Amino acid sequence: MTITDTHTHLYSEAFNEDRKAMIERAVEANITRFFIPAIDSSYTEAMLQLESDFPDYVYLMTGLHPTSVKENYKEELKHVEKLLSERKFVAIGEIGVDLYWDQSTLEIQKEAFRHQIRLAKHYQLPIVIHCREAFDEIFEVLETEKSEELFGIFHCFTGNLEQAKRAISFNMKLGIGGVVTFKNGGIDKFLNEIDLKHIVLETDAPYLAPAPFRGKRNESAYIVKVLDKLSELYGQSHQEIAEITTENSKAIFKV
Ligand SMILES: [Zn+2]
Repeated sequence: MTITDTHTHLYSEAFNEDRKAMIERAVEANITRFFIPAIDSSYTEAMLQLESDFPDYVYLMTGLHPTSVKENYKEELKHVEKLLSERKFVAIGEIGVDLYWDQSTLEIQKEAFRHQIRLAKHYQLPIVIHCREAFDEIFEVLETEKSEELFGIFHCFTGNLEQAKRAISFNMKLGIGGVVTFKNGGIDKFLNEIDLKHIVLETDAPYLAPAPFRGKRNESAYIVKVLDKLSELYGQSHQEIAEITTENSKAIFKV
């Protein structure tokens, strides 16, 4: 059985003390494919180091996270473009809009999002979307940029059934993680109405640990708790769900 964590920040400072042991715990639990979203240029070196330390398991994305869209965002976007011109990445992410941390940057967040969607189309790469309190704003951009060539993952999906269907209509898979195990998470109420072909698994480690670890540091091995919950919701085995969601991740990332 192969389990794929489509969104995990393994380079985070939160793992500086025990990164190798943490990754070994995950591999032990059959999680052997890790997709690594970018945040901004301050993490590039740590991401490249992670890749050279764990070349068999780790696949890097590049991109500018919406909470890092600040006055210098044009320079940051140039950094993303430079990396894309130099080497291979599996996706552009995470990109999008976040109105929880800062609403004053909405216009430049949308501009950076749109710019990076165009880069994804140019390089024929998937996008990985970060959306926090910003479904309308994200959908507004996707509506103007949608096309056959645009596809990807709506990471940490937390919307309702209607928003799930709308995300899927833009060629997006839904990234499902710890939130599905939360008592008030909401998505467990309707998720089984969405075909598993639209779902990928993720942790977003070190954030959003699933129950019973909620509030603690998350790690990739805990994705098994997400699998437990999906198995219950869909009435299918761990094996089947791991297989389908891993195939879905291959269709997106082409690895
Ligand atoms: Zn993330």
